[in-house]
Amino acid sequence: MSHKKRESNSSQEQSMYQDSKHVLKHIKQCPECSLEFTDKHCDIIFDRGAVQVIHVLCSNCSHKVVTLIASTSFGVSSLGMTTDLSAEDIIRISYKKPLKEIDILDFHTLLYKNQKKFIKLLSN
Ligand SMILES: [Zn+2]
Repeated sequence: MSHKKRESNSSQEQSMYQDSKHVLKHIKQCPECSLEFTDKHCDIIFDRGAVQVIHVLCSNCSHKVVTLIASTSFGVSSLGMTTDLSAEDIIRISYKKPLKEIDILDFHTLLYKNQKKFIKLLSN
């Protein structure tokens, strides 16, 4: 996946970074195979000025890391997490509304009323 800027905000919240090069200061190499990351491995999926979320995909072993970078008056903090999600998956689920209790109860009722069908589906 090539480096792309997915989302940008208004000029007031323009990122202090114009590209993903700063990510490479925080995650230099793949934790699985030690391949050195370059811009081409980074995909900016969220950019709100002081906060960015960047997906990094290793071209050697397909290991994926999602990194959150936050810039404050105290400095820059980063948090990287291994993920099995693609950049597209993260964007897709980011815009979904959270489940409500009634959704869970409805799903429980659906399962309860159709127990035999679900067991049959799961055992195939
Ligand atoms: Zn790798």
